[in-house]
Amino acid sequence: MAEKSYLDLKAEIWDKGRCSGCGACVAVCPADALYFDEGEMVASPQSNGYCKQVSDGVLCGACYEVCPRIGDQPTGMLGEYLDLISAKAAFDIPRRQSGGAVTAILTNALNTGLIDAVVTVTEDRWTLKPSSVVITKSDVLITEAGSRYSWWVPLLTALKYAAVDKKYHRIAVVGVPCVVQALARIRASKHDLIRPYAASIRLVIGLFCTETFDYMSLVLGKIRMEKKIEPNQIKKMDVKGKLEILMHDGTKAALSMKELESCVRKGCHICTDLTSVFADISAGAVGSPAGSTTLIIRTPAGKSFVESAVQNKQLTVSGTVDLAAIEKLVQAKVNKNTQR
Ligand SMILES: Cc1cc2nc3c(=O)[nH]c(=O)nc-3n(C[C@H](O)[C@H](O)[C@H](O)COP(=O)(O)OP(=O)(O)OC[C@H]3O[C@@H](n4cnc5c(N)ncnc54)[C@H](O)[C@@H]3O)c2cc1C
Ligand code: SF4
Ligand code: SF4
Repeated sequence: MAEKSYLDLKAEIWDKGRCSGCGACVAVCPADALYFDEGEMVASPQSNGYCKQVSDGVLCGACYEVCPRIGDQPTGMLGEYLDLISAKAAFDIPRRQSGGAVTAILTNALNTGLIDAVVTVTEDRWTLKPSSVVITKSDVLITEAGSRYSWWVPLLTALKYAAVDKKYHRIAVVGVPCVVQALARIRASKHDLIRPYAASIRLVIGLFCTETFDYMSLVLGKIRMEKKIEPNQIKKMDVKGKLEILMHDGTKAALSMKELESCVRKGCHICTDLTSVFADISAGAVGSPAGSTTLIIRTPAGKSFVESAVQNKQLTVSGTVDLAAIEKLVQAKVNKNTQR
């Protein structure tokens, strides 16, 4: 890959509207030359024009090496796994999205020293604006539980801060499938510039994801301007065939998927991975009863994190999973995004 540069990434991915916005290329650029602009429907990164390879003739190609949109896209449906369970946190997590299983696994891992940092996405309570963060305290993880659907932040830029600046070396990352695909490339890479990232990652938790929305189009456009709902009135959002909005005063509102279509990030239209097939553990709502999380345990490492949380009474296995319901959603996503 070393002969490739950001110019190849630009031609093959950015200019063709294929970028998922995962931020992996931004994170690994040794010159810090790639960045995301702020604004509505920002589809892909930009370069400040300097590139070690193009400008100085130094072999690099790191950005191209980690991009999940290069090469074949996953079509393995549910992917390989060791176990499939329905689980929930054994303690109260008021802002949890499903059963709070993701937060329970991560807090147990932080408290027992299995990990020293979590790279994830939080949001500003006032504006609901998402940002990528590094969390090192379990009480912060608990207050920041819940899903951010208006995700567009390049999550993996926070990995650079965690692994390179702060030198955390037992990092867990929570991400949607495109982020997890980039992490799989990072973990498999033999590239000198990428190996330090790979060496610092202990656990990858992948969330199920059908699509994500642009923050400005959804929250500021549809919700604030059209529905006249201020972001700080919103307690929780959930996508279940439509976007359900629950307000702090108990009232509810909803947006149909048709209304949301213009807010979907462009890069999501070619995505064929619903369940994060390259994660250590995948987590979603579908397949489990309300109040529980479906966990697809894929690797021995993922299994040991779940077992530790159960042994320490942080996580309760609450039942079996409706596999057919997950497969149906996977198939629907693959059909939709391969027929465009
Ligand atoms: C954009 C998006 C789309 C989703 N679509 C589906 C779907 O179609 N079907 C389905 O069954 N499930 C979907 N999920 C997963 C579901 O919403 C829950 O995240 C999952 O069930 C885990 O619930 P939990 O209660 O165990 O997680 P919690 O204990 O609430 O923990 C959630 C963790 O995820 C982190 N997080 C939140 N948003 C993001 C984000 N955007 N990127 C990275 N990390 C994040 C939080 O910081 C927290 O650590 C989606 C999630 C997201 C973020
Ligand atoms: S998909 Fe990720 S790695 Fe590829 S160009 Fe977009 S932000 Fe960069
Ligand atoms: S639908 Fe695919 S590309 Fe879009 S955010 Fe989810 S995982 Fe990433």
